[in-house]
Amino acid sequence: MLIHVIFFIHEDYKLGNIGTDSLESIINHERMGAFLEKKPALPEQCQSCEFLSLCHGGCPRTREDNGGGVEYFCESYKQLYRYAHKRMEKLSLAFKKRELEKFVLKGFKFPGRNEPCVCGSNKKYKRCCEPVVKELQMELSY
Ligand code: SF4
Ligand SMILES: [Zn+2]
Repeated sequence: MLIHVIFFIHEDYKLGNIGTDSLESIINHERMGAFLEKKPALPEQCQSCEFLSLCHGGCPRTREDNGGGVEYFCESYKQLYRYAHKRMEKLSLAFKKRELEKFVLKGFKFPGRNEPCVCGSNKKYKRCCEPVVKELQMELSY
């Protein structure tokens, strides 16, 4: 299922009024497609950016405000990602470990290495939670 986050960004992209129009008419509005088409058309700077998987090139509107080039807030985003990304990864790993520990302690049967991971990431188990589970199993066996 495709889920769109709808928010007001500019009169030119107005799709309707959530209070008076049906959700169906808003989602199927002809302007929706035109707006979504702007997303993948990223400038070279974004395509080779180390933070692309986090930023996705920013917002098409603020790219337009910046003359159709790189996102207006690009430098701010980079500062934020440089500061927070590793910290967030660390936090995420700690959270993942805490949750997986409950499964390990209960003797849960984890999937095969090439099967989808238990966490819902859509990655193979071996490329996602398996290393964390193995580490936990080692720690808990001592
Ligand atoms: S941080 Fe800047 S260069 Fe990188 S993807 Fe975002 S807008 Fe593009
Ligand atoms: Zn996982």
